[in-house]
Amino acid sequence: MEKKSSSLFWGEIHIHSNLSDGRGSPKQNLKHARDVVDLDFAAITDHAEDLNQEKWKVTKDSTEYLNRLGNFVTLLGFEWTHPSGKEVWEPLVREGLSPSELDFPLYGHRNVYYKGRNGEYFAWNDPESDTPDKLWDKLREQGTRFLAIPHHPASYVFPVDWEYFNPEFERLVEIYSIWGSSECPASQDNDRPILRGGGEIPESRGSHVRDALSRGCRVGIIAGSDGHDGHGGRTRHHIQNLTEHEGPFYPSGITGVYAEELTREAIWEALWNRSCFGTTGGKIKVKFSLDGHGMGSEINQLNVPNVNVGVEVYGTADVRKAELIENGSIRKILKGNSPEFKRDIEMSLPEERPLYYYVRISQVDGELAWSSPIWID
Ligand SMILES: [Zn+2]
Ligand SMILES: [Zn+2]
Repeated sequence: MEKKSSSLFWGEIHIHSNLSDGRGSPKQNLKHARDVVDLDFAAITDHAEDLNQEKWKVTKDSTEYLNRLGNFVTLLGFEWTHPSGKEVWEPLVREGLSPSELDFPLYGHRNVYYKGRNGEYFAWNDPESDTPDKLWDKLREQGTRFLAIPHHPASYVFPVDWEYFNPEFERLVEIYSIWGSSECPASQDNDRPILRGGGEIPESRGSHVRDALSRGCRVGIIAGSDGHDGHGGRTRHHIQNLTEHEGPFYPSGITGVYAEELTREAIWEALWNRSCFGTTGGKIKVKFSLDGHGMGSEINQLNVPNVNVGVEVYGTADVRKAELIENGSIRKILKGNSPEFKRDIEMSLPEERPLYYYVRISQVDGELAWSSPIWID
């Protein structure tokens, strides 16, 4: 089948409003994302635990209203917020345990996005949906399409135990938000690790994005804000009271999506297909391909010794380097010295399968971008 051409659209789909613990109404936040941050798509993801049917109706109506005005797309979503708390991360951090070694289940947080305009919200404090498995069952029962995205998986407060990963619905991971980057530990070359007050770096071992990829979770990459301050799409502060959540925080991230057109269906499908990438906030355009297969692809190249690696970046500042990550380690560093960065290289493939590759872009101003991976089986 001939692939239709796609365009790049920018969005941020992790916004909290005053319907849960954020500021500003859903409409105000979505308009801020559209008009001030100049995004093409956005979504409100209020904590389901704070919602009721009346508030959910406001979420649905506001989401639908902004989507219908045209030239801007919204997705209907909510956040399932499991409260893995201090009592969990303290021993985890102190003793260096990995999530699966704890008695307490570390389900983490999931944002759920519907493809259509209808769907219910499900909260962890409802006995009907208090585990990921029950959540998937409830979502499945509705007979409408949805995708789920875990966020800040390496957070010390709310880590994700990848043991509970669901390959059927979890197509993406939010690698970066104001919390920091969950790509890999600070010790392994992460410039923006998740921090506590005072700049301490307590990370949850085994919960990073590379851990997920290495254990076979085939997640694409997005970045967001997790903003709560009424500035939808680009938050200024995490919450109303900064000390409450033990900052410090980083600037908001955003997501670039290659979609056929700017419609809810096309954006949702492109996210489902992992045809996307995340940045630390700058509109850094990233293209990454292996033998012409784009981000998110799974390709079969069992007996081919070489692969063509294509990296194309249009930065918001000079691109310092593009690092090609192969199964968790840096395979190649391609250096740059201008905002426009284009490389096409032939590279030998190791024998092991499966392989995953993604690129991490670093600009001279410290901004970063991460492509979604491509898998070779
Ligand atoms: Zn969350
Ligand atoms: Zn959130």
